[in-house]
Amino acid sequence: MSQARLSPGVVPGRLSSEELAANFADVAPLMDDHEARIAADRCYFCHDAPCVTACPTSIDIPLFIRQIATGTPDAAAMTILHANILGGMCARVCPTENLCEGSCVRMDAEQQPVEIGALQRYATDGLMAQDGHPFRRAEPTGKWIAVVGAGPAGLAAAHRLAAKGHDVVIFEAREKPGGLNEYGIASYKAVDGFAQSEVQWLLEIGGIELRHGQRLGREITLEGLRAEYDAVFLGMGLSGVNALRTDGEDKDHVTDAVSFIRDLRQASDLTALPIGRDVVVIGGGMTAVDAAVQAKLLGAENSTIVYRRGRDRMSASRHEQEHATSSGVRIICNAAPVAIHGNGSVAEMEFCYTQDGPDGLTDTGERFRLKADQVFRAIGQQLADEPQGLKLTGGKIAVTASGRTSLPDVWAGGDCATGGDDLTVTAVAEGRDAAEDIDARLTGRPVEIPG
Ligand SMILES: Cc1cc2nc3c(=O)[nH]c(=O)nc-3n(C[C@H](O)[C@H](O)[C@H](O)COP(=O)(O)OP(=O)(O)OC[C@H]3O[C@@H](n4cnc5c(N)ncnc54)[C@H](O)[C@@H]3O)c2cc1C
Ligand code: SF4
Repeated sequence: MSQARLSPGVVPGRLSSEELAANFADVAPLMDDHEARIAADRCYFCHDAPCVTACPTSIDIPLFIRQIATGTPDAAAMTILHANILGGMCARVCPTENLCEGSCVRMDAEQQPVEIGALQRYATDGLMAQDGHPFRRAEPTGKWIAVVGAGPAGLAAAHRLAAKGHDVVIFEAREKPGGLNEYGIASYKAVDGFAQSEVQWLLEIGGIELRHGQRLGREITLEGLRAEYDAVFLGMGLSGVNALRTDGEDKDHVTDAVSFIRDLRQASDLTALPIGRDVVVIGGGMTAVDAAVQAKLLGAENSTIVYRRGRDRMSASRHEQEHATSSGVRIICNAAPVAIHGNGSVAEMEFCYTQDGPDGLTDTGERFRLKADQVFRAIGQQLADEPQGLKLTGGKIAVTASGRTSLPDVWAGGDCATGGDDLTVTAVAEGRDAAEDIDARLTGRPVEIPG
């Protein structure tokens, strides 16, 4: 929990436990068999399906939907998991409106795509609820691989490497695995501890040792790992947060949105979590939307996102923006923070209106203030523990399409590496592809990427 003193506006228990349970319930509950068959029957099973091209893990979507339609959901789950071992989480968190469902041909004709995400969840949840792990390991290769970070990228890499017969040790800084699946994703997208149960299910393949409390740059070094292991995969995400660089940023109850979301995700009793009456979130991405919506769901009277450019420049999708406004969040665009006012704790935020022109963003000179007893910064994250000796580009580890870094025995993928969209599914694809490349480099076997 954040250590700031409580102010009169930032208090726990704004809503009853019953109200909170309803607000944080599963946003897209599991389909039943009948619903799944009806949804699957809407698929045209397109040749050269655009939905497959739009999926960063290239899941054979028409094939898995046909498998559901013909009453073989476990086969459908295997089609999904072979391409994307975190297909269960991706079914819950992918912005499908921008990916597979956004490109579904049913979207053009009827503005109603096949419900690919919900069908994916139906298939994977069904298989994962059964005993045993459906993948087997290949014969041992005698090779040892170090994976840094147990987020989606690291887990996908580790599973693929273990499946190919390598032994893997994951070095994770935190006490729980899962990365942002555990500490970042909005609570209502992945309920009932799904992030942890998915990791435990994934580890059942065997050959993966998970070591906690092991931070690269503190307990371990890249040099040390390179000396001890045949290859190293870095999937440590972006755990540093950007500062606002605004006067008054040090006031109480001005924190980063990711910490707020982490506290929310880890809280065993949401009635004990303090929340302001007037919450202001600075930023324009998914993190800003998730913080603002969840503040509202915790009982904030006013939750406002302020973004410095126009709506069309927000990195939160149109769907996410609509989700925010339909949850009662106000979005103010073309405004940037100038100062944070208050005596000890934040009380008000001052903004200038901005204009986005050919010369970049300019201050129009017009000012306004918003009442604010809690402010969350959601203006991007950065690499916290820069590994020594690696080439960086734009603050991220520079990699090729298969995740190779500037060092011959080190690969990287997910948010910490260049390329990709900073999405769970992209991290999975990059971890998987780097694992394939590592295997090819160490054994001479051909790369095997589905799709
Ligand atoms: C608030 C928020 C909400 C999001 N919501 C969505 C969403 O709804 N849908 C979606 O597709 N994407 C979402 N994303 C993006 C998505 O979560 C990330 O793109 C994805 O988790 C990246 O995976 P990763 O494995 O690269 O990194 P991470 O998930 O960040 O995992 C990195 C892991 O490495 C560990 N680590 C960090 N530094 C070190 C070190 N020095 N040594 C050892 N271990 C270390 C971390 O503890 C962590 O476990 C969201 C992101 C945020 C911040
Ligand atoms: S584009 Fe739509 S209709 Fe075509 S295969 Fe994909 S899900 Fe089915």
